[in-house]
Amino acid sequence: MTVANQKGGVGKTTTAVNLAAALSMHGQRVLVVDLDPQGNASTALATEHRAGVPSVYQVLVDDLALSSIVTPVPDMPGLFCAPATLDLAGAEIELVPMVGRETRLKRALANFEAMEFDYILIDCPPSLGLLTVNAMAAAQEVLIPIQCEYYALEGLTQLLQNVELVRVHLNQTLSVSTILLTMYDGRTRLASQVAEEVRSHFGDTVLDAVIPRSVRVSEAPSYGQSVMTYDPGSSGAMAYMEAAREIAYRAAALHQP
Ligand code: ADP
Ligand code: MG
Repeated sequence: MTVANQKGGVGKTTTAVNLAAALSMHGQRVLVVDLDPQGNASTALATEHRAGVPSVYQVLVDDLALSSIVTPVPDMPGLFCAPATLDLAGAEIELVPMVGRETRLKRALANFEAMEFDYILIDCPPSLGLLTVNAMAAAQEVLIPIQCEYYALEGLTQLLQNVELVRVHLNQTLSVSTILLTMYDGRTRLASQVAEEVRSHFGDTVLDAVIPRSVRVSEAPSYGQSVMTYDPGSSGAMAYMEAAREIAYRAAALHQP
């Protein structure tokens, strides 16, 4: 599942990390692939990603095996991270002349049979460049976090057009399966208006669970933790747990005979 939205600061990384943590806490084997040069997901998952550490960059550009960079997340059984380093910023350009530049990650995942995962979540950078295209080409589903703020829907048409282009040209099974409303502030009318508008546009694609704006959610990464372990009883942790539950039930319903 690729977590994508070309807007920055809408909760992509927070969503990827906390959904992954929630699923792993329910006994699933989960991998987070950090595809953002900023490496925020790697930080939140306490995974080493200083310059020089083998990372997704080498996987995409130098054909390093994905299995060689997958790292267990400390104190989180079943949760793993493929870290990103700042080198990855260069990949956006270095990939351009390469053969199969849009499908480098897809190939790396296809050759990655050694470790079996129930879920692989890919955290995208805030752009629609080659890294995000690689993430979409490699995934079965796209999860779009939408921040419940003004301008939330701006750029969504372009994002959906990109998903469609990738579907037609690179990955026929791709779909936008999930939309998650994030940073919901119940005190504002604006938040409920945005939520209503998103639901009326996208119907069942939108999860019932809504992630509230919560300080605990934003504090957790500075402790190298997800909010799921940092403060399991907080409103943010409970909302991500509920979102993970919905995603798991949807997957189970899809795989019913
Ligand atoms: P993106 O990956 O889309 O750029 P992030 O997940 O990094 O977005 O979130 C942007 C900022 O907002 C971060 O500082 C993060 O800690 C904070 N944040 C994300 N979700 C919440 C939330 N539910 N409540 C409060 N702060 C949040
Ligand atoms: Mg991010």
